[in-house]
Amino acid sequence: MHIPTHELTAADRELIDFARDIVDANTDGEDGVHTMGAAVRAADGTMYGGINLYHFTGGPCAELVALGNARASGARELATIVAVGNLGRGVVGPCGRDRQVLFDYHPGIRVILPTAGGVVASVGIKDLVPFAYAWSPDAVSKAYDGEGPGTP
Ligand SMILES: [Zn+2]
Repeated sequence: MHIPTHELTAADRELIDFARDIVDANTDGEDGVHTMGAAVRAADGTMYGGINLYHFTGGPCAELVALGNARASGARELATIVAVGNLGRGVVGPCGRDRQVLFDYHPGIRVILPTAGGVVASVGIKDLVPFAYAWSPDAVSKAYDGEGPGTP
C-alpha cells in the first residue's frame, strides 16, 4: 500500500520547533512522566501546545492534550499536528489511540511524523489510518434515547 506523503513546509517546521520548545522547557527527564511535547496548528494559523501526562491509568499523550488545549482556546478546525520527544529525540509519530482520535475528531488534519527512511514529512490522517473504524463525536453528544449508543 502506498501512503502519500507531503514535504514539510516552513509552517510545519515552525510547528515542530514549537512542540520541541514545549517539551524542552517542561520535561522532567529521562525517567519522568512528561516526556513528549505536541503542537497543533489551527486553520487560522494559530498554534496550540500540549505535553503528555503519563499515568498508569492511561494518562493522555501530548497530542491529546494539545487537541484539548486548542479546543478550550476556541479552535475548531485544525490543520496540522506534531509531537516531539524530550532529550533531543525529535519528531515521533502518534500512537494508535491518537490516530483514531485524530481520525474521528479532525478527519482533514495532516500529521507530521517520520516516514520511510526516517524522513520527517506529513501524511493526511485518512491516509495514515486506512480501513479505519469510524466513530463520530456527534453520535455520543446526543441525549440518551433509550436505545443505547451506536443505535442507528
Ligand atoms: Zn499517543
